[in-house]
Amino acid sequence: MSQIKIEFVTATIEMAKASTCSKRHAALVVRGNRVIGAGINIMKTHPGTGRRASYHAEFSALRRLKRDPSKPLEMPAKGAILYSFRNGFDKRSRPCSDCIQLAKEKGIKMIVFSYGSRDPEDWNMDFVFSERL
Ligand SMILES: [Zn+2]
Repeated sequence: MSQIKIEFVTATIEMAKASTCSKRHAALVVRGNRVIGAGINIMKTHPGTGRRASYHAEFSALRRLKRDPSKPLEMPAKGAILYSFRNGFDKRSRPCSDCIQLAKEKGIKMIVFSYGSRDPEDWNMDFVFSERL
C-alpha cells in the first residue's frame, strides 16, 4: 500500500462529484507524484445506434495523457498508477475489464479502487484496494 497516496484517493473521489451519471465515477493517472491523466464518466449517444451509453472515466483519463517533455519517446503512463473511485453510495469502483485492458496497454502498473460498503457514511481507507497489472 506504500505507493498509494491518500491525497490522490480523495482527489479522485472529489472529482467524481462533477459527473452527471447516476454512478459518479472518476479516474486519475499518476506517475511519480504527477497527475498525467484525469477523467470522469459521462453519458454519450452512440452516433450509429443512437443508444445512450456511459463513457468510462478510466477510458477518458487514459486517452488524454500528458507526456514528460524530457522523455518524448517514452510511453507516458509507463509504471503509472490508475486511481478509480466513485462519489456517493456505491464503493465498488474496480475498473471494468475493457478499461483494465487499456490500462495494461498504456503501461499502468497498478490500479487502486474501492470495494465494500454501500453506506455513504462509513467511507474509510479500509475500502481501498490495489491490484498489480
Ligand atoms: Zn470501464
